[in-house]
Amino acid sequence: MILRRRLLLSVLGLYLCGTAIAQTSQQVNGAVPLKKIRVTLLGTASGPRVHVGVAGISTLVEAGSERFLFDAGRGFMQRSVQAGFSMDGVTKLFLTHLHSDHVVDIPDLMLTPWSAAPGRKVPLEVWGPDGTRDMMRHLEEAFAFDIHVRRDVDENFSPDGIRVIAHDIREGKVYERNGVTVTALLVTHGLVKPSYGYRVDYARRSVALSGDTSPSDNLVAFCKGVDVLIHEAIDLDVLRKLVPSQGPFEAIVARHTTPEQAAGIFSRVSPRLAVFSHSPGTAAIVDQTKRSYSGRVEMGEDLMVIDIGDEVRVTRTAAEVRPR
Ligand SMILES: [Zn+2]
Ligand SMILES: [Zn+2]
Repeated sequence: MILRRRLLLSVLGLYLCGTAIAQTSQQVNGAVPLKKIRVTLLGTASGPRVHVGVAGISTLVEAGSERFLFDAGRGFMQRSVQAGFSMDGVTKLFLTHLHSDHVVDIPDLMLTPWSAAPGRKVPLEVWGPDGTRDMMRHLEEAFAFDIHVRRDVDENFSPDGIRVIAHDIREGKVYERNGVTVTALLVTHGLVKPSYGYRVDYARRSVALSGDTSPSDNLVAFCKGVDVLIHEAIDLDVLRKLVPSQGPFEAIVARHTTPEQAAGIFSRVSPRLAVFSHSPGTAAIVDQTKRSYSGRVEMGEDLMVIDIGDEVRVTRTAAEVRPR
């Protein structure tokens, strides 16, 4: 009898121990906790200019079983691997607009995860403004030699894995699966029309990305009360040094958002957290915003992770939540 009880206790002990190990490994692997949205800023640089040490604009959103990449700026793939994702971990890409700094590394996403063993086996799906389908078709043509050789001649990589399914979208709900919805909303980016922001909703949590925009009433209408708003901004002093002549300077200012204007947008949207990305990352941007906005504001940086649950938690190094 005592022996049986001991056996039972040790089996129970093993079971409990196993559960503890499972929980620990989930934490270690950095899987998204149930009913939360996790955002990883892969690249936060502003504009097309090369910034050594800062990747181009690119944001990864995980919600339930879904994982999305928003924009594919320079160097996002290295950041993605650095953040703990496998190379083929992203197969769904949403584009805010077709300015080069937002799309320049699409070939990396299209080709590298497919052509590095074991190789992506499922198509890459891309949503974006008018012109997205054409751009993706032309990219397939541009890389026709590599695709043909690796698929048909030499390495026999998956024909499905190099397929691209591209959508030219309209404003409204553009994706709905597994309890996750992605909504595209028109923003105002000068003559670059259409330009979109996006909102992701899952389990009553939400995050919105402004894309490139001047202050947008439409963004406010779509994003009021969102948990986290990731917004672009310019620093006028930094811009003045880069673009000294008045005409071009004013043209750039007119299609982006100043910190003061961002404060106005944040006041109207009232997010639990506002984060700047695709901005120069200067302290002045946050300081100027805080002059007329009292809510929580953070300056985004590459590999910052934002967990959206009962609390909105910011971790500045992805390795802390998703060790490699
Ligand atoms: Zn941009
Ligand atoms: Zn732009």
